[in-house]
Amino acid sequence: MNTPASPPGAPDTAVLVPAAGRGERLGVGVPKALAELAGEPLLVHAVRRLARSRSVALIVVAAPPHALDDVRDLLKSTVGDVPLTVVAGGSSRQESVAAALVAVPVDLPIVLVHDAARPLTPPTLIDEVAAAVRAGHDAVVPALPVVDTIKRVDTAGTVVDTVDRSALRAVQTPQGFARDTLVAAHKAAGDTACDAACGTADQAATDDAALVERIGVAVHTVPGRTEALKVTTPFDLILAEALLASASGNAQ
Ligand code: C5P
Repeated sequence: MNTPASPPGAPDTAVLVPAAGRGERLGVGVPKALAELAGEPLLVHAVRRLARSRSVALIVVAAPPHALDDVRDLLKSTVGDVPLTVVAGGSSRQESVAAALVAVPVDLPIVLVHDAARPLTPPTLIDEVAAAVRAGHDAVVPALPVVDTIKRVDTAGTVVDTVDRSALRAVQTPQGFARDTLVAAHKAAGDTACDAACGTADQAATDDAALVERIGVAVHTVPGRTEALKVTTPFDLILAEALLASASGNAQ
């Protein structure tokens, strides 16, 4: 399906930014969202690109509870005219997103969820995801083909089998949802009662699309972008810095 990236008449999209993770794999001693890339926190890079998207009417950041004022001050000039709300994150990404979702007013029909740890996501991707929701998809994720050969291993690390990668996709953020769909998915995830069909419903989800899948809503994919990489390890920071320094990175 062709989904135009053109903006709506008025911005109609809230973006939730879970930024409350500790980021221990990065090993920089501060919450990952506040780790610096080219002299600025990852969160600032991510929010700057969100604020440039013509769809975005509100940005809600879930920050570490002890750093709410600092995060507000940090982002004040980055968001420009786009309203910003900062809320306390939870102990998992899913809880942080749920806390941010509560702050979205009912008059915004589209909600995107975007990791602070994806600092170089192009505004065009943000607009494409919002446009696909606007075009009628209740849930939308950017997806890239998997390039490595994927093996399943047992607990000892011995290969059990080789997975057919042709049907596999690596999924990024921003992920976009009809607001009511995301609210229903988080409500279902928060309910303790869950029958066998829920499978892993009692585990915190690593993305929001997984919660939406559990309530039986189809998730549409749009092409992802290599620049939307998630910074997890020190190597990713070096990669992101190189991308930012390259001509294409500077043009974002
Ligand atoms: O740890 P991981 O890389 O999967 O985190 C993805 C995103 O979720 C990061 O932006 C991180 O700050 C956020 N997060 C959060 N609250 C937590 C854990 C992670 O907002 N408790």
